[in-house]
Amino acid sequence: MGLFSKEACVFCGTEVGMLKRSKLQTKEYICNDCKKKTNPFARMDYTSKDNAQHMMDTLAQEAADFEASFDSAENRFQSAERSFKTWDLGSHRVQYRCNTRLGAFQIISENHSSYEHVPVFYFDSMIPYQFADDNPQLADFRRNGVMDEDAEYVTVKEETDMDGKLTGCTVIIPYNDICIREIRLNGNVSDDSGKNVFYDLAERMNSDRKVWIDRGIFDAERKNKMQIRNLGDTAAAALKATVTGGNVEEAVKQGIDTANAIEEGKVKQGFFGKLFRK
Ligand SMILES: [Zn+2]
Repeated sequence: MGLFSKEACVFCGTEVGMLKRSKLQTKEYICNDCKKKTNPFARMDYTSKDNAQHMMDTLAQEAADFEASFDSAENRFQSAERSFKTWDLGSHRVQYRCNTRLGAFQIISENHSSYEHVPVFYFDSMIPYQFADDNPQLADFRRNGVMDEDAEYVTVKEETDMDGKLTGCTVIIPYNDICIREIRLNGNVSDDSGKNVFYDLAERMNSDRKVWIDRGIFDAERKNKMQIRNLGDTAAAALKATVTGGNVEEAVKQGIDTANAIEEGKVKQGFFGKLFRK
């Protein structure tokens, strides 16, 4: 068990030395090659064997789904979100893009160039990590935190030397995932213009999160309006069927189907007029 002893990777079986492996939370070893298939921001000492396997199984699909989400962009604004923007955090180059409708974003760090997948993160996990619990009250409380429009979860930490001179900054993104918990993007800077880039990225993420919440609220309001109109429409159709000797049950059933479709987001805004003009 010395410094130079080799251990087998629990995923591929390759025997590797200390510098080419990490220890998982469940005490098995993962080799650097297999680790490249996981989320680059995941900490292996927080990651169980099952969690690591889950990342290997899902990251590619998540990235593909995220990419495809731009294809269904409804307007030019949204397709403009597809391209990555670059921030130079000191000498550390970071790229970021966000789909504010989906509430998801991607970060590419040049430090992670050997990793296979660009991970996707979700605003509804952007909240300080807390061990998962079945308590529904706590879940509601956490939900309120996620939807808190005033919260600025992404922050910047400045580092200084003993003379109080700026040496570096870190963008810190809290993340409620057992394997990640926090996304940190750091770089060395010594002047204000370098420092401002960190704040600019943090501000961008915080404002994207607000856009996502605004859209969610908008969607909920829109759904409510559609439900109310559907209710009235169904009542009118049922009444008409009663008066004319038509099929009341069928009219009600159609109303229920429409209500479910609205809830599931299957009724798009464009269908709005068509749906209610009978
Ligand atoms: Zn391996």
